Amino acid sequence: MTAKLPGQATLGVMGGGQLGRMFVHAAQSLGYRTVVLDPDADSPAGVVAHQHIRAGYLDETGLAELAAQCDAITTEFENVPAQALARLAERRFVAPAGASVAICQDRADEKAHFAASGVVCAPYAQIRNEAELAAVPDDLLPGILKTARMGYDGKGQSRVRSRAELATAWNELRNVPCVLEQMLPLALELSVISARNEAGDIVQFPVQQNLHRDGILAVTQVPAPNVSAELAAQALASAACIAAQMQYVGVLCVEFFVLQDGRLIVNEMAPRPHNSGHYTMDACDVSQFDLQVRAMAGLPLGTPRLHSPTVMLNLLGDLWFDAQGVERTPAWDQVLALPGTHLHLYGKASARPGRKMGHLNITAASAALAGDAARAAARILGLSTEW
Ligand code: ATP
Ligand code: MG
Repeated sequence: MTAKLPGQATLGVMGGGQLGRMFVHAAQSLGYRTVVLDPDADSPAGVVAHQHIRAGYLDETGLAELAAQCDAITTEFENVPAQALARLAERRFVAPAGASVAICQDRADEKAHFAASGVVCAPYAQIRNEAELAAVPDDLLPGILKTARMGYDGKGQSRVRSRAELATAWNELRNVPCVLEQMLPLALELSVISARNEAGDIVQFPVQQNLHRDGILAVTQVPAPNVSAELAAQALASAACIAAQMQYVGVLCVEFFVLQDGRLIVNEMAPRPHNSGHYTMDACDVSQFDLQVRAMAGLPLGTPRLHSPTVMLNLLGDLWFDAQGVERTPAWDQVLALPGTHLHLYGKASARPGRKMGHLNITAASAALAGDAARAAARILGLSTEW
């Protein structure tokens, strides 16, 4: 592909959520024209793009319009129908490719891909019918039953201790195809953001350490405070193998578990920038969204560099309600008075508990100082300071 040069091309994105919005901002800062396809009239990305095509993801007219307008197209969510990406790819350069996105859409395909890449995931079994349910080995219990498709933020998951609980949980998930994973003793969780171009060059951000609360990412710390140099190197190398094995083009996030015995296990991946990479917007000299733009436009990826230790706090809709459930605006003025705070809000019209409304990046000259300011911010916002 010849490069789509800044100031001379139009970049499109399937999906209008916050990831699409931050992609649009990054593309626009290089002078690209931007187009978003999303059915929602006031999607976070649609309202900031040059053009918003309001159409469903399989709408032929909408897809034709997107292809006609754009020189290259990407996606901001993994559940975009793979056939929509295939359709767009008939006319335009699409990154990541529909085939890569399809692997990430199905936990069983994803795990098969991890194995083909030589990276170990949790012991698991597929459950697609009664026979597979009956054949589940005992050593997968206690385990986590996960729908093979469409899960996010811990949705579509159920923790089960016995065969009886497993059968009930599978019924509650309406017997859709699932995987049962052995419940692993986690010491911590980390993730790696890589960007790969068509020539096969890969660049990576440092490993980030993630804390989840109620199945949703809450805090990311970089440098990862509890990860040895050897383990970090292993995670980076594993993520690179996973990307290369599918000839991936674009930004890829790979999530890992570190077990209590120190072993590294791959969890899942996302074919796009990721919540755990939001710190790159303020703590690195190029962000994950800049790299998404560069990879799809065929520009040099450069070498991303972390210039400041950082803590990212996710801002969920819960913060918009006081203890009595009355809606309020969080005390941004107090938060922004702290040193090194960078507030990113996604422009969502209404707050709901658990809804991702924004994130706060805190940068400082040292990890200790970043931690102090982040804890001060968490106290102001009413977030836990345990991390
Ligand atoms: P998201 O897409 O938002 O990252 P998800 O809904 O796809 O989340 P997973 O990443 O599969 O869900 O799991 C959510 C969390 O549940 C993990 O971050 C981890 O804390 C825990 N978890 C998942 N699988 C296991 C496992 N096999 N053993 C122990 N804990 C697990
Ligand atoms: Mg996850």
